[in-house]
Amino acid sequence: MAEPLDTPRGTLAVPTFLPDATRAGVRGVTSEDLRQIGIEGVVVNAFHLLRRPGARVVQAAGGIHRFMDWDGPILSDSGGFQVWSLIRQDPDRGVIRDNEVIFREPETGEKWNLTPERVINLQFQLGSDIVVCLDDCTDAGDPEAEQERSVERTVRWARRCREEFDRQAAQRAGHAPRIFAVVQGGRVEALRRQCAAELAAIGFDGYGFGGWPLSGDGELLADPLRWVAESLPDDAPKHALGIGRADHVVAAFALGYSIFDCALPTRDARHGRLYAFKPGWSSRRPSPGDDFYRAVRIHDQPYRVDHGPIEEGCDCPVCARHTTAYLHHLFKVGDLSAERLATLHNLRFYVRLFELLRGG
Ligand SMILES: [Zn+2]
Repeated sequence: MAEPLDTPRGTLAVPTFLPDATRAGVRGVTSEDLRQIGIEGVVVNAFHLLRRPGARVVQAAGGIHRFMDWDGPILSDSGGFQVWSLIRQDPDRGVIRDNEVIFREPETGEKWNLTPERVINLQFQLGSDIVVCLDDCTDAGDPEAEQERSVERTVRWARRCREEFDRQAAQRAGHAPRIFAVVQGGRVEALRRQCAAELAAIGFDGYGFGGWPLSGDGELLADPLRWVAESLPDDAPKHALGIGRADHVVAAFALGYSIFDCALPTRDARHGRLYAFKPGWSSRRPSPGDDFYRAVRIHDQPYRVDHGPIEEGCDCPVCARHTTAYLHHLFKVGDLSAERLATLHNLRFYVRLFELLRGG
């Protein structure tokens, strides 16, 4: 079981949910909104911030915390996954080599050269509290030879990241961030275990589960998650990158993962999918397989005349003041506040879910 995670800007109780503030903002809501509903930390994406507005702009603003008015812990994802998925969609966008990743902006032709060292430096420039090593992503369905090469690169890059991190951290005595590595290996048990063990031997403050975590039909890759968790030290913080759906969170938590980030609750909110605990479940710790919540599809006609809150007993600022019928109306007329209110409710649902998981 993981211990609370100390960062330069406070301790994160675990398990913790960190909303994706990919480009230094959670869409539609302010940092003040996030504080009010009990969010303790956020995830930004170093690669996207390098593209826009640029690391120098963030640095000149006084760092990522000042830039986005967030004084709690910030984890910066390296962007390895995003670079890989952009290049995979369109090979003209760049190339991943043994020693570097080259990415071209399709519109401007601008070229980014990402090395393990550069990615660590970039995250120091941003001023993140938890930095993440550059890893070499694969698709879970890629052939084994490719998974093998990815593990080999990922471990080699992680070692270079660790060395660069130690160089940078030595100059910031007492205020150094934490460093996480990411485990690859697709769906190959031996490779997942090998990657986890080799990264643990180098030594990091936490470990992420890398690659796409779901099967083709959208279910959690529970076996690979378990192999990785079993091959890492028991007390090491384990980050389930990009997971996710509330029932997936419960399943991954049971496997030993304690740090979660995902765009799903905020994206669902913007599309009018709101979450609610089923009756009797708002004060009970869910276990894997429990059917503990439902989605309110706010666009559906019956909600036009539903004058109760989204969820009876929800303590979010939206349910305290507004009815389901009002939110339905705001979505129908395309009011700008609709997505914001829905986002606040869904994020508060996650805060409540994580409080239940912590309390058990
Ligand atoms: Zn609510």
